[in-house]
Amino acid sequence: MKRQVRCTICNEIFEEGVEKCPVCGMGSEYFVPVEVKETVFQNNTDKTYLVLGGGVAAVSAAEEIRKRDLTGTILMVSDEPVVPYNRPMLTKMMLESCDPAAIAIHPDSWYEEHNVIALLSKRVESIDVEEKKVWLADGSWLKYDTCVYALGAECFVPDYEGKELDGVMTIRKTKDVQKIRELLPDVKKAAVIGAGVLGLEAAWELKKAGCDTALIGHSNQIMGKQLDRDGSDFMKRVIKNAGIGLYLGKKIDGLAGDGAKVIGVRLEDGSVVEADLVIISTGVRPNLGPAKAAGLSVSRAIVVDAQMRSSVEDIFACGDCAEFEGVNYSIWPEAAAQGKVAGANAAGEPLVYENEAYGVSFSGMNSELFSIGDLGKDPDKEYRVVTSQNQEWGWYKKYWYVNDSIVGAILIGDVRDAAVVMEAVSRR
Ligand SMILES: Cc1cc2nc3c(=O)[nH]c(=O)nc-3n(C[C@H](O)[C@H](O)[C@H](O)COP(=O)(O)OP(=O)(O)OC[C@H]3O[C@@H](n4cnc5c(N)ncnc54)[C@H](O)[C@@H]3O)c2cc1C
Repeated sequence: MKRQVRCTICNEIFEEGVEKCPVCGMGSEYFVPVEVKETVFQNNTDKTYLVLGGGVAAVSAAEEIRKRDLTGTILMVSDEPVVPYNRPMLTKMMLESCDPAAIAIHPDSWYEEHNVIALLSKRVESIDVEEKKVWLADGSWLKYDTCVYALGAECFVPDYEGKELDGVMTIRKTKDVQKIRELLPDVKKAAVIGAGVLGLEAAWELKKAGCDTALIGHSNQIMGKQLDRDGSDFMKRVIKNAGIGLYLGKKIDGLAGDGAKVIGVRLEDGSVVEADLVIISTGVRPNLGPAKAAGLSVSRAIVVDAQMRSSVEDIFACGDCAEFEGVNYSIWPEAAAQGKVAGANAAGEPLVYENEAYGVSFSGMNSELFSIGDLGKDPDKEYRVVTSQNQEWGWYKKYWYVNDSIVGAILIGDVRDAAVVMEAVSRR
């Protein structure tokens, strides 16, 4: 049997020998060997488990339920027309064919083999917690014994004037990428609003597609969450060297159009960054509508305990729509791990979730970047910082230590140590 490895970026586990991670596309320098322990817990029932959502949190929950309950009914409801897929691959599919089957987490046959009934293109409208029923937008309803709420998040779009113009896009679903691919042949100039990691990814793919590309950010910093000021300055040079126009510290006044189509991004100083495609990448907001209406306790997202239990009996929540210990990171490894814990608990095995340090990586602009952990931003801690950089060779490295334990790091240009750093930060 082949040994298994774990991608330290997205936590996905797969057989050794694969060149690129199927979830996030990162290379083998990010892989570490793992031993996977399978559960022996069994609790076969005639219960109905209703899993709401069609992302990684939902499918992870369904997988874990089925491992423990071989006879219960598992229904998974998603408003997307396709079974769950590796969402982080979406931007990278802009230039390749955006065939959802090519990035599916499991092929259609998996659902049949595991008796997981995927109800697709069905929208969850509301939850009746007294009757234990979920109402769908088509007027039908489904009964449940145990419900897992995994409705994830949507892109947040600020209320820009002109945001409804043709050519203004976000990237969250396969349909978004399919639409962008349709538009691309006519796009000469493109702009991305948002200088976070997903904004950088989108800008690089547009540049590779041959578009004259601009990256516009509200803050003066690139990837404000994952870089310090020096790292951000280093990245600005990397981006400019890649031939992408940078407009940082810019407030956006609105999107300019010709009546139907977008023609540019209007900045507060009155100038216009011309663009016939604008991708907005300004963060996400959890899908909380049905949860709030049903009375689940909600803060920034649905409040869950370590077993992913919501405040309402028999309803678990996980992934981008859940908040554990005040944190809702909205990242893939967290959604997958929470889905697993929710599924195990829904089936009766009391597993607990622990917040872990996950890294963020970016590969593009003729460079690579990895960032993890505490980057010295806590005023109550005394950090020791070790930095080295070489402008000529294009690398920048910075490590933060507290009491001689590594707590965070940024690597740009040379990320060969990423897996080792990731393990060290996780283990403190
Ligand atoms: C382009 C892109 C790149 C990314 N790259 C990375 C990365 O490199 N690393 C990383 O860690 N994370 C990345 N992420 C974030 C990561 O994909 C998410 O954190 C993860 O997918 C969350 O999974 P989830 O199952 O909680 O929610 P989602 O993936 O949002 O899934 C929720 C599902 O529920 C469905 N749904 C929503 N509302 C309803 C309703 N009312 N009725 C029925 N169905 C509904 C949605 O259509 C969707 O199918 C990226 C995201 C995007 C969009």
